[in-house]
Amino acid sequence: MNTILSTETVIEVAYLVATALFILSLKWLSSPTTARRGVFAGEAGMVLAIAGTLLHHGIVDYKWIAIALVLGTVIGIPLGNVQMTAVPQRTALSHAFGALCVTLVGTAEFYLRSPNIAPFMMAVLSMEVILGSLTFTGSLMAAGKLQEILPQRPITYKGQNFVNLALLACAIGIAVILVIHPEQMKLFPAMILIPLVFGVMLVIPIGGADMPTVISLLNSYAGLSAAAMGFVLNSKLLIIAGALDGSSGFILSVIMSKAMNRSFTNVLFGGFGQIQTSSGATTEAPPVRSATPEEAAAILAAASKVVIVPGYGMAVAQAQHKVREMYDALTKRGVDVTFGIHPVAGRMPGHMNVLLAEADIPYDKLLEMDQVNGDIPQTDVALVIGANDVTNPAARTDTSSPIYGMPILDVDKARTVMVIKRSMAAGFAGIDNPLYYLDKTLMLFGDAKNFVSSIVKDLSGSGG
Ligand code: NAP
Repeated sequence: MNTILSTETVIEVAYLVATALFILSLKWLSSPTTARRGVFAGEAGMVLAIAGTLLHHGIVDYKWIAIALVLGTVIGIPLGNVQMTAVPQRTALSHAFGALCVTLVGTAEFYLRSPNIAPFMMAVLSMEVILGSLTFTGSLMAAGKLQEILPQRPITYKGQNFVNLALLACAIGIAVILVIHPEQMKLFPAMILIPLVFGVMLVIPIGGADMPTVISLLNSYAGLSAAAMGFVLNSKLLIIAGALDGSSGFILSVIMSKAMNRSFTNVLFGGFGQIQTSSGATTEAPPVRSATPEEAAAILAAASKVVIVPGYGMAVAQAQHKVREMYDALTKRGVDVTFGIHPVAGRMPGHMNVLLAEADIPYDKLLEMDQVNGDIPQTDVALVIGANDVTNPAARTDTSSPIYGMPILDVDKARTVMVIKRSMAAGFAGIDNPLYYLDKTLMLFGDAKNFVSSIVKDLSGSGG
């Protein structure tokens, strides 16, 4: 009895510390200076939560748990080593696994307890399996779209919203029946199957560009279903961790939607991200002016104020370390260099901050969109590195543009604009960028890493 009591106390303490670590982790993750600590706190919290659970006296056999731990490790290690640009789809896969786990636990609990399930318990169990199963297939779809295994373009058809809402209503209807009549066990599989279909239907009309927002929303659903599982399993830790996950996922989706000036309904029911087929085939594209690395280096060296705007292309090219060298070379010459960071530049929130921090660019040089936009008219050169949509002035002026209303970095207001990219290809939203045709714009065609390297060579060669 005594040992059980003391084990219980150890478990409670482990859970309490884990909870505190999860909360601190989220707090620390919100700033680049403390983010690393945040990651360690989250990891330590998770280790404590798992250790506490393994001590549970209800466990009669560790064999299956050991097999599951090995399996999880085998899947988890390669997932942890993906390229930074693949993190959104990797995150979607983790949500899918989490949601599958929640659904399986809910199913096991239902069959263990039925037919005597109290209405409150049946209600949370239903919420757990409905959210869990729709998040499972929804996350798999999102990962497939981002990985380009599935078509990125939105797939829409007439009456789509009606079909989706009808599916959801059916699942909720079955849940209500089961709450009142938990002995109707044969209905339970339908309460899983329908949301599984709903998860697929929910994501197919959403375009690739909105996928990270959807993933963050699915993250929130996964958190809520885990919190519901906490009620079913009577685990305070799960309730708290699920609630933290649910609310932080929701807040992140709101932040991302705001940064793209899009409402949730717009994300869920709009057709953003549709690659526009060349409607301009009849009209010839206007000419652009291009420049060599030597010319670009000379213009940069002559400037007194430069704003660098990084985007997805810098991430793909892994050019951040070369960008750091260019930053050093220019600051050595007395040029004032700052970085304009758009909240949705790249493919995940904070993408640019992470890359530039990895290259040891001082945090105080990374300016947020509002801060930098005020300075751009007094800027000699805006150097865009692999960014496209986040600099597209059509977002301000062209009401027919799919990104109309999205706040952008006003690089077109700088005295000179230089854009490093490989071609005239569109960015993620699949649309042309009028910035490239301005008289003040110079296109620097090439891979971001190679081009910046050549600029650095020229800057160093010409003395500083
Ligand atoms: P973007 O609009 O996708 O444009 C990236 C550009 O980089 C492309 O036009 C491409 O042109 C160029 N590029 C690719 N590889 C390159 C390389 N190796 N070297 C040089 N250039 C290269 O990127 P963005 O301006 O960062 O905008 C992000 C987009 O993602 C927005 O539409 C945003 O709404 C969306 N999004 C982001 C998030 C997020 O959380 N960050 C979430 C949801 C959606 P070339 O092919 O010609 O080189």
